[in-house]
This record gives sequence, C-alpha cells and structure tokens, in this order.
Amino acid sequence: MSASILVVEDEPAIQELVSYACANGGYAVRRAGSVQAAQEAVRAALPDLVILDWMLPDRTGLELLRELRAQERTREVPVIMLTARGAETDRVSGLDAGADDYVVKPFSPRELVSRVRAVFRRRAPQHSGEALEFGPLRIDPVRHEVCVNDEPVRMGLAEFKLLKFLIGHPERVFSRSQLLDSVWGDHVFIEERTVDVHVLRLRKALQPSGVQHLLQTVRGLGYRLSLRPE
Ligand code: CA
Repeated sequence: MSASILVVEDEPAIQELVSYACANGGYAVRRAGSVQAAQEAVRAALPDLVILDWMLPDRTGLELLRELRAQERTREVPVIMLTARGAETDRVSGLDAGADDYVVKPFSPRELVSRVRAVFRRRAPQHSGEALEFGPLRIDPVRHEVCVNDEPVRMGLAEFKLLKFLIGHPERVFSRSQLLDSVWGDHVFIEERTVDVHVLRLRKALQPSGVQHLLQTVRGLGYRLSLRPE
C-alpha cells in the first residue's frame, strides 16, 4: 500500500532518474511526458503526490499546477516543482501557485526523495512511513500496528487504513465521499454507506481501550478524529 507519485517530466533521462529514485524510496511511480498525459493520468487515478517539471512540450507545469489547485478533486494533492530555472521570480510564482516545494536542476536523487518525504510529512503524514500519534493512539504504518497507550489493538485492513488517514489529518471533518477517495482510492465504486460500516467497526475495535469517542460523527458533514468533546 505504498503512496503513489506521478512524475511529469518530458526529458527521458531525468524522468528515468526521478522515477528510479522514487521507486527506490518505496513509492509507486507513474510517468507522464506532457501536461496532457499528466491530466489523463490524474483523471485515471488520483496520485498522492506530483513531481512536476516546469518546461513541458505542450504547456507549462505552472499552468497544470494552477489547474490542479483550482479543482476540488485535485486541490489537496501535494506538488513538488522541478525546474532548471533558479530565478527568484520563478520560485515565487511556483510557490504562489500552490507548489509545496521547489527543486532546482541539477539535483541529487537522494535530495529529491528527502524533499518528497518532507512534503509527505507536512501534507500527508500517513504516507511518510513514520509512526503517527494522536492523543493515546499510535499507528505504525510500516509494521501495520495500532496501539492505545502502548497496548496493541487489532483491527481489519480497511479500519487500519481509515484510522491511518484520519490520524494524519486530526481535528478535520471529512465527508463520506472524501474518505472514500482518500482511503479507498477514487474511481473505486463503493457506496458511501460502506464508510459508515467501517467507522462502526473501527469504533468497535477501539472500544475495549475506551477511546472510541475520539472517532466522532459530525452530523450532516461526516467524521473526524478529535480530542475535543463530542
Ligand atoms: Ca522539461
């Protein structure tokens, strides 16, 4: 269940280098050589992060970035801009348009992967591969382990994925469709009430540890993981 990265770069050697570095870092990689190919790839499946070259043959990476930020479905996808330009104005317009980070060519593959990790830590901690904590809850994504006050808690895979996502975005309310997209992957045709079933199961799994109240229903909106009283 590794995080997916879409590499958008038209230069074959650099596309290969970036893809190899990311695959080596444990990520699932897809590639696109143009803005159009990238749009198709995003339509087919939402990536967890995009590495986006500035100069592409059909349009600029900056235009694609603006498009991603303008659409509800792609707004939250972290983007790292890749460019040969080091000029201050470019850096500023990339960050202004909503890029999460900016890597100037030439770069070392190790540096790029560490930037990817840093962006995941900040924007989507559930993909960073590191243990996440929230109140008495602790989740280790690599060992597939959930603990409450250091006591292991058993749960199904779907409940684990749901908790992992929520613990990466604590105190935020997510609708059923947002949870379906983020936890089960978009374009997966599952009914929204499936989310309710897994929320119930997750509460049940947490009940013996007495922390089921952290997983809260927000009437009319969805669910959240919260330390605040319900
Ligand atoms: Ca290019």
